[in-house]
Amino acid sequence: MTALEILRRYFGHDAFRPGQKEAVEALLAGHDVLGVMPTGAGKSVCYQVPALARPGVALVISPLISLMKDQVAALIQAGVPAAYINSSLTPGQMNTALRRAAQGQYRIIYVAPERLATDDMAILVQQVGISLIAVDEAHCVSQWGQDFRPSYLGIARFITSLPQRPPVGAFTATATSRVREDIVRLLALDDPLALSTGFDRPNLFFDVVEPKDKTAFVIDYAKRHEGQSGIIYCATRKSVEALCQSLRSRGLPATRYHAGLDDDERRRNQDDFVYDRAPVMVATNAFGMGIDKSNVSYVLHYNMPKNLESYYQEAGRAGRDGERAECILLFSQGDVQTARFLLRGGEENEALTPEEREAVYRQDMRRLESMVGYCRTDGCLRACILNYFGEENPGRCGNCGHCVGDFVTEDITRPAQAALDAVAQIERRYRAGLGLAAVTHALCGSRDRRTLQLGLDRMPFYGALRELGQDRLRAVIGFLMNGGMLRQTDGDYPVLRLTDAGREALAEGRAFAMRARRQEKPARPARAAAPVAHEDDEDLLSALRSARLRLAQKERVPAYIICNNAALADMALRRPHTPEEFLAVNGIGEFKAARYGKTFLDVIAEYEKGS
Ligand code: ADP
Ligand code: ZN
Repeated sequence: MTALEILRRYFGHDAFRPGQKEAVEALLAGHDVLGVMPTGAGKSVCYQVPALARPGVALVISPLISLMKDQVAALIQAGVPAAYINSSLTPGQMNTALRRAAQGQYRIIYVAPERLATDDMAILVQQVGISLIAVDEAHCVSQWGQDFRPSYLGIARFITSLPQRPPVGAFTATATSRVREDIVRLLALDDPLALSTGFDRPNLFFDVVEPKDKTAFVIDYAKRHEGQSGIIYCATRKSVEALCQSLRSRGLPATRYHAGLDDDERRRNQDDFVYDRAPVMVATNAFGMGIDKSNVSYVLHYNMPKNLESYYQEAGRAGRDGERAECILLFSQGDVQTARFLLRGGEENEALTPEEREAVYRQDMRRLESMVGYCRTDGCLRACILNYFGEENPGRCGNCGHCVGDFVTEDITRPAQAALDAVAQIERRYRAGLGLAAVTHALCGSRDRRTLQLGLDRMPFYGALRELGQDRLRAVIGFLMNGGMLRQTDGDYPVLRLTDAGREALAEGRAFAMRARRQEKPARPARAAAPVAHEDDEDLLSALRSARLRLAQKERVPAYIICNNAALADMALRRPHTPEEFLAVNGIGEFKAARYGKTFLDVIAEYEKGS
């Protein structure tokens, strides 16, 4: 069978996506591969297809047990004999899995990195030929990445210990060059074919909002999207608890996840989410790696994450099925202070020298600045992300809040000049400088204790922008920081400083205009080109959805493993009547067609009789 035949037969896809073909061909030719692809781009096809085309068994090294369980379930549904070997198996299950593996019954085995050094594995690799090794989430090998796992450092040793070295494919969604270099070096890849597919996820709609009341915004949003699945990320456990409670008390089916819950509850809640019993997940960033749920329609960020890598990874958990999905970040100026503070107090990496630690801190700060830049930009949000990852783009995407939003341009010359002037006066009067809060309080004429203690009420600019209000003034100062007129110093007590550009603008009395959102709610953009069933087909779609749910319950797998939303929408659109026509549905391979075709065909026939 050719690679393309395998793709069609087992996975039900007509053609390879960009990058997949190259990766598959390289691995088949025995070359190593380094694949950098965003979440949802289809990394698994890159190694699963060659695994089925080469003799022997493929080992997939993967960091998370939940991920393996899901991937193996999906493979078995597609008719591929597969198994996983990790600490969640009982000794009995482990023996069975190893025995079957030794007999060559599996084509793909998922292994936890910790298991590689065990005697069992050493015996197994003497008994069966290894067709290829795939390292999923390969950035875990790098200390510069966000999810360093020491056990990944043992992978290279394991590969060297094999009787014969198979081709190795390493895959990640993390793009920075430093992490990429680490992967090649630490996994000892041999002159790998480096593939980097576009980072763009066209079906995701991005937006940044600055609501007065974040909780009210989330509740309203979740209500308007009832029946859909979503993830809401919060910075702290406490806010997870509070927000989840608020949603539940309004009858919204939310569950929660953070590191403070015991293993049992975490597993239960995660399952409730994955199986759509509680389709709304409120979580800290402890949640998500290895969650492969394809029908997540929105990801909200209650707080700003610490860098764009994390943001894009978390937001990218929306819309993996290719359907239109929304990623909305709820920003507040206070988030910036909190994020800086958390970086300072961040856990120390024992494995690094003090100099390296300092370098990591400085890099973290730079990353944070880019994140803040995203929150404050008035340009295209997608362009901001793609520029950050070094990818060319048209600069306007037409599918983000800033491209479709209702913006007004406002003359802010007076408040901007007043703010610059205030910072200049403060620099003369208070050598050490003052922080953002002190400046805004003074300009707004606040009578709080600190303002009076500092004697700010005797400064000429005291109360000069009283009518503007704190929030608007912070937005103006944010605009000036973004434009390089003002900057905040590093350190525990950041103060505002005038930059050279700011000094110049003040001296010449430059005019400033700011583009700002007219309304608070995200505009409802036109539906994107993703496959969406026609309105009339809504009934059919919901009948198909129920059929899928019944099948999922029978097979004891999550619904999206039977088939994803894109496949259901395609079914509703094509309305197949024969098994051959059914096979043409996007995402349906031969195995699934044989197994579930009749159920879905019956639903369609029934529907057409009725209407
Ligand atoms: P990643 O691991 O890169 O996040 P996955 O391997 O989970 O992505 O694939 C994401 C989605 O894309 C899955 O729903 C999968 O069925 C789909 N997909 C992968 N390859 C193709 C293809 N060639 N054509 C159509 N859909 C595909
Ligand atoms: Zn845009």
